[in-house]
Amino acid sequence: MQSLIALKDVSKTYFNGDLAVEVLHDISLDIEAGEFVAIIGQSGSGKSTLMNILGCLDQPTSGEYLIDGERVSCFDADELAALRRRTFGFVFQAYNLIPTASAQENVEVPAVYAGVPAHNRHERAEALLKSLNLGERLDHRPSQLSGGQQQRVSIARALMNGGRVILADEPTGALDSQSGREVMALLREMNENGHTIIVITHSREVAEQADRLIEIRDGRIIADRAKKGRSNPEAAFGLAQRTREGLAAIADVSEAVKMAMRALRANLFRTILTLLGIIIGVGSVVAMLAIGTGAQDSVLSRISSMGSDLLLVRPSMANFRGSAGGSNVTLVPADADAILELPNVAFAVPEMTSTVTLRRGNIDYQTTANGTVPQFVEAKSWPVGRGEFINSDDMEGYAPVTVLGQTVVKTLFPDGSDPIGQYVLVNKIPFQVIGVMSEMGASAGGNDQDDVVLVPLTTGSMRIFGQRNIRTITVEVKDPSAIDLTQEKIQALLNERHKKEDTQITNMSSVREAFTETSNTMKLFLGSVAAISLLVGGIGVMNIMLVSVSERTREIGVRMATGARRRDILVQFIVEALVVSAIGGAVGIVAGLGTAYVARTFGMPVSFTAGPVGLAFGCAFLTGLLFGYLPARNASRLQPAVALSAD
Ligand code: ADP
Ligand code: MG
Repeated sequence: MQSLIALKDVSKTYFNGDLAVEVLHDISLDIEAGEFVAIIGQSGSGKSTLMNILGCLDQPTSGEYLIDGERVSCFDADELAALRRRTFGFVFQAYNLIPTASAQENVEVPAVYAGVPAHNRHERAEALLKSLNLGERLDHRPSQLSGGQQQRVSIARALMNGGRVILADEPTGALDSQSGREVMALLREMNENGHTIIVITHSREVAEQADRLIEIRDGRIIADRAKKGRSNPEAAFGLAQRTREGLAAIADVSEAVKMAMRALRANLFRTILTLLGIIIGVGSVVAMLAIGTGAQDSVLSRISSMGSDLLLVRPSMANFRGSAGGSNVTLVPADADAILELPNVAFAVPEMTSTVTLRRGNIDYQTTANGTVPQFVEAKSWPVGRGEFINSDDMEGYAPVTVLGQTVVKTLFPDGSDPIGQYVLVNKIPFQVIGVMSEMGASAGGNDQDDVVLVPLTTGSMRIFGQRNIRTITVEVKDPSAIDLTQEKIQALLNERHKKEDTQITNMSSVREAFTETSNTMKLFLGSVAAISLLVGGIGVMNIMLVSVSERTREIGVRMATGARRRDILVQFIVEALVVSAIGGAVGIVAGLGTAYVARTFGMPVSFTAGPVGLAFGCAFLTGLLFGYLPARNASRLQPAVALSAD
């Protein structure tokens, strides 16, 4: 008949650097189903090494291991995990319970990896703990239980998936003699129920309670005697006790999320610090992009309101310096008339400006006087609010009339009386108010455009400005697609008229383009500063995950011993990283939007768009995935026996 467990000439050598230590030498051993075996030997004789091989936690260096006639060395990592899950239950000297999980949750771990539905899992774990007199302790953490109770929890865990073979490595080693006797009695009872029991011990007293005694010294079996025949064939082992495996490809993602939350809560302060990294990263991306986009939008809309079919003609900068003495005349009103003669020119509106003092009653006010022509209103897309604008009769008649900007109206007429028809003094010369401009608001540069008085160019140049220099000529073209050609023609015309190149022409659409370009660069810069802080947050996640993995190596070992596949471990730690970055991302978005909102209440233009928010969250999530992967992979690649021996 085929043995349940058969070792043939099994040797195990540990390699530590150049040093090779053979710990087991040609061990051959058969164990039948239903046996109660004790393996006894002194400390260091190789018992634990043997147990790790028997439990498929470690592979022999040479020799063969057969379970139910199947060669274990042919199994890959996942098949070994399945074998452990279905066949073995482990009981360790140090209990190896997961410290952050309750007794019941600890017992359920093997069933999670077997894909047993939550409901069945809970019931079975509860029933097992009750049968081990732990019905009152379901929700207790391992630290809240005595040693004997913890060992009983670990026995319940070993039985969770059926526990056809129970491998117990020094199960009484850490217990007082009373608890130790209880544990041995339990193992005896389980053997009577049909479980195959293999107990490893250095104590003869414990070993004597088994039916068969295998003695091992320095890695060799030196005695193997049966006290009585196999009394409990496995046939008695109720198959009904065995749970059926679910089909879940990955042991329940919701379970992984739950475990992640628990692990993160267990180290709350550390978790919060890591979260802070992500929160600052995501928050700054969201806030900076909202404020940056807002500023850009507001400037762009102001530039657009100026019109993209405009050309601004001004004396060139070099010429300004040359004309410091004031004798050098550049742009004159006749230039505007000449430009108007060119094809494709709709308007050519000259403007002269000067700072003036206004007076009405006892109110004095300094503002800018702007001498211009009737087409000003159309060229600037700036309609008159009330009254009239300057007309050609005013121009020809040098009429002392003025149209006021809103700011001037508010200052000179604080009583709210109607300015139209009244007189104001402009540099002590009386001008009659004929109209009030509509409100324009601040310019792209932040100047108050309503802080102005408009007068006819003719009257202004004669009575206020005292010189004929034009500050700008605003040209509107008929066909914007030919604007470049028109620009060249105007330049040529002015060069011809002035006999030198002393003017410069700015194309408003090129201003817009230049602005968009620089502000995009600015946004990119802000965005990358924010992205860098997100990267720093990501490194924080990686750091905490690496620490977490190395702190919980033993837990990983336990999970593997209870049947977790590499994939399950990988998913668990990635989920943990993702939970951190998702929470951090969500809080960061709220913080970022909050910052942007506060900035808006302080008058900053802010634009809330879904794009950057989604982008930032996506980046945070990706960061978690990216930076969580390496630690998670490290965890999943651990050898079960190595992980279990970690301290
Ligand atoms: P026991 O459980 O009987 O006390 P072990 O199987 O734990 O003995 O160890 C047997 C021998 O193998 C000891 O001398 C120990 O130092 C050595 N040993 C155990 N594990 C390792 C390892 N991972 N690397 C190197 N030597 C090891
Ligand atoms: Mg040992």
